[in-house]
Amino acid sequence: MSRLLENIGVLVTNDPTNDAGDGSKLGVINDAALVIEADQVVWVGRRTDAPAADVRVDLDGQTVVPGFVDSHSHLIFAGDRAAEFVARMAGTPYTAGGIASTVAATRAAHTPDLRVNARRLIDEMLATGTTTVEIKSGYGLTTDDEVRGLSVARELTTESTYLGAHVVPAEFHDRRDDYVARVAGEMLEACAPHARWIDVFCDRGAFDIDEARLILEAGIARGLLPRLHAHQISRTGAVELGVELGAASVDHCNEMNDDDLAALAGSATVATVLPGADFSSRARYAGARRMLDAGVVVAIATDCNPGSSYTTSMPFCIAVAVREMGLTPAEAVWAATLGGAKALRRDDVGLLAAGKRADFAVIAAPSYVHLAYRPGVALVSATWKSGTELKHAG
Ligand SMILES: [Zn+2]
Repeated sequence: MSRLLENIGVLVTNDPTNDAGDGSKLGVINDAALVIEADQVVWVGRRTDAPAADVRVDLDGQTVVPGFVDSHSHLIFAGDRAAEFVARMAGTPYTAGGIASTVAATRAAHTPDLRVNARRLIDEMLATGTTTVEIKSGYGLTTDDEVRGLSVARELTTESTYLGAHVVPAEFHDRRDDYVARVAGEMLEACAPHARWIDVFCDRGAFDIDEARLILEAGIARGLLPRLHAHQISRTGAVELGVELGAASVDHCNEMNDDDLAALAGSATVATVLPGADFSSRARYAGARRMLDAGVVVAIATDCNPGSSYTTSMPFCIAVAVREMGLTPAEAVWAATLGGAKALRRDDVGLLAAGKRADFAVIAAPSYVHLAYRPGVALVSATWKSGTELKHAG
């Protein structure tokens, strides 16, 4: 059964062959239509050119954008760190150590509760237009708890990431080398069947550059694809390591010099900025404007986690990236859609063209600009994932 979605006021395709002459990479089509069949887009174009279809859906002049691709989240956890947030807002600086409290709560939780919590967050994501999400482990930090977290993540997404190297857990503080060996050995062996990616939190208070290299190289040898938490708190060299190892993405990128930007530009590695993390940890915002000007491919993700960025909303992150990181609304929307897809090495999502997945968000506004112009407002009226519509109360 084919469905024609017509009367789309503004359609963002991210396909540059649909050049609206607006100077953006968004491939905008005004007064557009979209035909989908099963889970795929089969036709995109002007409404007046639309082919016949079995069912017609009138979108009433609303805006349609590709579903957001959230390429960085930590949804497998238990507990709450609201008190830590209050303390941070009162002046206590963010450190990697707060993760330990979530590790204790996660280890103590029953698996069904971890699943229910992650599903709740994914429902929030769907309600705000996110159709693809990457989910990391990293709050278990024992072999069994990491396998358990990844198994739940794998039920919810194909983009599951092994993050045994989140922090060194308390019981290994006196023998961190043993923990690194475990992460790159027994724990990796057990986790690899449940993961597509391997990640390391390479920063002050977490893992140093030599440990990151050892762990990532072990993961690559085991068939996992690398990505990195890099240069959030300090310049460790993790950006260059990511480029050298062919990482799909280096994430955070708050502390960047010109050498880092030069290494990224022209490489296959995306820089993923996390506006929610910078906002909620009151950090200096990552220099996404400078990255784009240097020729780096930039993605935006939520970093949803209970400590430093407890938001699931990509529209919120778009608004912050425009307000605080100097992106234009068009650049921010691209970074949150096709940018995220590139950060996950996916070519079937993040754009709307024949043969791509029918994943998109309907925005109750005359333009995608309203995602940044109307911060905090629930503008996503419906989300379509794999050709299925999920309507929202709005
Ligand atoms: Zn993270």
